Amino acid sequence: MADLPNCPECQSIYTYEDGFFYVCPECAHEWSDEEEAEQTEAAVTRDAFGNVLEDGDTVTVVKDLKVKGSSNVVKQGTTVKNIQIIDGDHDINCRVPGHGSMELKSEFLKKIAGK
Ligand SMILES: [Zn+2]
Repeated sequence: MADLPNCPECQSIYTYEDGFFYVCPECAHEWSDEEEAEQTEAAVTRDAFGNVLEDGDTVTVVKDLKVKGSSNVVKQGTTVKNIQIIDGDHDINCRVPGHGSMELKSEFLKKIAGK
């Protein structure tokens, strides 16, 4: 038998490995030694070209974006300064010239300058 840890929830010795996870068949608890590393990885926000985005960066919009709830469009090539990284489906909070404060998706942006 491989050297598996006991379940941290119920101390069961009948744990097994499932991919990157350990699983306890007695209380259904799942855990991983890699959890901390994965969370660090997930916290990185990237633009359309894979560049890492950070608070205060300057970006341009790489395609026309419809503004939700209106007929306005943020034009491709619009420069947005001083972005802020946030959590969520739209992961960038910023002020777009002519549109005011709004949330955008990092996948439609291109980084052109750091802070
Ligand atoms: Zn357990």
